[in-house]
Amino acid sequence: MTYLDHNATSIVHPAVREAMEPWWGCPANPSSVHGPGRRAAAAVERAAEHVAALVGKEPREVVFTSGATEANRHWLHALSILHPACALHVGATEHPSLLQLPGVQRVEVDADGRHRFDGCLPAWSIMAANHETGVQSDLEALSRLGGVGHIDATAAAGRMELALDWVDAVTLSAHKIGGPMGVGALVARERELPALFQGSQQRARRGGTVPTPLVVGFGEAARLACLERDARLERWRGLQERLEAFLLSQGARIVGRQRLPTVVNAVFEGLPAETLVQALDLQGIAVSAGSACASGSVGPSPVLQAMADPEPAGGVRFSFGWSTTQDDIEAVERVLPSVLDGARLFL
Ligand code: PMP
Repeated sequence: MTYLDHNATSIVHPAVREAMEPWWGCPANPSSVHGPGRRAAAAVERAAEHVAALVGKEPREVVFTSGATEANRHWLHALSILHPACALHVGATEHPSLLQLPGVQRVEVDADGRHRFDGCLPAWSIMAANHETGVQSDLEALSRLGGVGHIDATAAAGRMELALDWVDAVTLSAHKIGGPMGVGALVARERELPALFQGSQQRARRGGTVPTPLVVGFGEAARLACLERDARLERWRGLQERLEAFLLSQGARIVGRQRLPTVVNAVFEGLPAETLVQALDLQGIAVSAGSACASGSVGPSPVLQAMADPEPAGGVRFSFGWSTTQDDIEAVERVLPSVLDGARLFL
């Protein structure tokens, strides 16, 4: 199988599996005071160091969650308690866990997917890079927005340099960087964080038993993402260049500018993305139409709609991860022309 859907979920890295393995077979509740518990707590601390390093923050700021959705909601909960009077501004292309809330004000984007800021904002949440298009936000401009700020770095972590020590909170998810599903983090300044779930765990910032094996896997994925980032970025840039050149030769239009080297969102005018995704799947190539959070709901992509794209139903998303190689791009080159010919027959 050719897997080019790492923004939906990445493949668990073998080193991550290896790091997690011993933790399944022992008592590993990091809140326990006995020896095994203390060993688990130390492993969780080490994981927090790697996760914090991924975004340039402090290990003590890391609160492990069940994923990025929970981290985003945790942040909104904290905001509603700490700054109830602040109007929250949310990027128009954010993940639904942030956007689909009553009363939030949208920060609109232009046709290239770049945010249109106007002065300072009292409270805001804007992603570091978009999950459907890969369009990167202007972090320098975000740092000047003032107010209380949150960055969803789920789609950007490990795919661009992130030095986010200046922002109040950052969201991350393990399964987008070769870690396991079911674990993420809200990396937030400690004093800013009322718990979403009550409980004494994680210094009373998030109740619930910390899942040591998952957290250790997240830490290892974060460590590798930092360690290998430059090599991965260089490889991805080459693969992206090749894939884009090929897609353009097949009549595609590429959505968005200033993108991560790991995403290519290609519109083939008049050809529904869902049809192409299904046809590619039959040929052994896994890609997405829009994002996995929106899949199952066939319809226009809210991200492309926010960009006022003339064909909001049309984007096929190819996304790369740690395991992507030239072979994956070659498979697309082999298969796509006949898939497009077939789809055009039904126009
Ligand atoms: N934010 C962004 C930008 C995402 O891409 C996703 C996953 N599609 C999420 C949040 C939710 O992540 P999780 O699956 O960890 O809840």
